[in-house]
Amino acid sequence: MNVDFDRIVHNGTIITMGPKSEIIQNGFIGIKQGKIAAIGSSIGEEPLVSATETIDAENGLIMPGLVNTHTHMPMAMFRGLADDLPLDTWLNEYIFPAEAAHINPENVRLGTMLSCAEMLLSGTTTFCGGYFFEDHVADVVAGVGMRAVLGQGVIDFPAPGVPDPQNNVKAAASFVEKWRDKSPLIRPSIFCHSPYTCSQDTLKNAKTAAETTGVLFQIHAAETKNERQMIQTEGLSTPVQFLKDLGILDGQTLLVHAVWVDEEDIEAIKENGSSVSHNAESNMKLASGIAPVHKFLKEGIAVGLGTDGCASNNDLDLLQEMDMVAKLHKVNTLDPTVMDAETVLRMATIGGAHAIGLGDMVGSIEIGKEADLIVIDTDQPHLTPMYHPISLLVYAARGSDVRHAMVSGTPLVRDRKLLTIDETGVMKKMQKLSRAIAVGGGSAANV
Ligand SMILES: [Zn+2]
Repeated sequence: MNVDFDRIVHNGTIITMGPKSEIIQNGFIGIKQGKIAAIGSSIGEEPLVSATETIDAENGLIMPGLVNTHTHMPMAMFRGLADDLPLDTWLNEYIFPAEAAHINPENVRLGTMLSCAEMLLSGTTTFCGGYFFEDHVADVVAGVGMRAVLGQGVIDFPAPGVPDPQNNVKAAASFVEKWRDKSPLIRPSIFCHSPYTCSQDTLKNAKTAAETTGVLFQIHAAETKNERQMIQTEGLSTPVQFLKDLGILDGQTLLVHAVWVDEEDIEAIKENGSSVSHNAESNMKLASGIAPVHKFLKEGIAVGLGTDGCASNNDLDLLQEMDMVAKLHKVNTLDPTVMDAETVLRMATIGGAHAIGLGDMVGSIEIGKEADLIVIDTDQPHLTPMYHPISLLVYAARGSDVRHAMVSGTPLVRDRKLLTIDETGVMKKMQKLSRAIAVGGGSAANV
């Protein structure tokens, strides 16, 4: 093979997650201009292949970077601040007041940077989410070099950065306008908090703004039994039917959670081509319930995994989330064949990429796709022996096993060292900020 590559990743087992789910032993991947240019089963005639850099996977696993379909990056600053509470108490008595007191551009940047560090070190290269001061989130993420679909949060009460809720949709639309062509790594989006914190007019206007610009519309929906009851007491049917009747369900809508859904709701999601973000650990921690994910998948609905924000999980480790997802659905259905390892890994990679509209770009190792790759170090007691690589990943691997990570062929983690983030400095600043949050004083940090 007489080809020059910018980079080669070789000497590992490649889990492609392509349409045929090929697993390639002793594989190599050639990268040119940020894209996957060659995939093979050995490095071939080495003298004829040259590259600026060669990354040796040392018999580990080479796979697509993980895709986290739902999170709130800056909320890393509230990790462990208030646990073991019901969602409404947690939100109204702790999270919303803490956000009102501490969310400012500097803290948002610091929380985002910490989340980027945690995600990259645990194998996530792409994520989707939204928050306030999203312009600052996007700026930090683009600077770090990660890929993301980001939405400025829309909510019908005074929010950080948008004191007058009358301007919430306008602020979200300006964010989209600003980031439309600003960075190849950032896809802007519109993120409405939920059907119970946004009025019908807000929801419709926000969806119209998303449609006009052709961007993804994200919304927490059918998360808790309480939400469903609230909507029903207003004489409406279910959160999903409510959104359907407003004209919000379509192929550009991502429903986050979708726990309290019935057969008719599932049909509506399927008919309208909407996708779902499954946040098992967050739903477990807040005791919200268990989304009927196997039914979604059976209906061909695109489903991805999400960690949700750090305050309700309390980490962003998708490898750990996968293990939890596989086991949760088995015990819930009393069927060990439900949610097999490959199905779960699909949701964490290509399934998630499709759910957020990036399926043609990332989520699998295929020629022409972006070289968003991670390498897992399997030379460890808890990952030995390896009969089935995918089983090993889902049931035994954890975030700390990720050794290298790259986005569009650019290395962001090498030998577990972050290349674009000052990890120690970020943690130090966050420790300082957390002391201020704990005493309710608030503080600005600079990143
Ligand atoms: Zn969320």
